[in-house]
Amino acid sequence: MTDPNCIFCKIVAGEIPSNGVYEDDQVLAFRDIQPQAPSHLLVIPRAHVASLDAADEGDEALLGRLMLACRTVARAEGLAEGGYRVVTNIGDDGGQAVHHLHLHVLGGRSMGWPPG
Ligand code: 5GP
Ligand code: ZN
Repeated sequence: MTDPNCIFCKIVAGEIPSNGVYEDDQVLAFRDIQPQAPSHLLVIPRAHVASLDAADEGDEALLGRLMLACRTVARAEGLAEGGYRVVTNIGDDGGQAVHHLHLHVLGGRSMGWPPG
């Protein structure tokens, strides 16, 4: 459930500091170290899951919890009225750099489409 080489597992363990905005028994949310928008939060499971592609039916409740946590942190950040984007990158073509499932919550500016 933990990968000793994973940077987000180290954040969960408190071995690397992070700017936390939300936590519960399964989920953690903190500010991205290189924000791509005025608000850029990362929502992650405490357990190590490599990506959405590595999740399975047994993760159904966890995935729901992650989505609701995105809503919770977006509201707390004042993004609900203006709107925001939730993104998860998967694998090389998806642009995933950290191989621990995470949802980006981006807001505070207008987002372009299609994404790059
Ligand atoms: P990915 O490209 O994997 O979807 O996104 C990984 C994100 O993690 C990037 O936006 C990057 O800025 C962020 N990140 C990488 N290392 C750290 C860290 O040590 N702390 C925080 N808060 N964010 C990180
Ligand atoms: Zn991990």
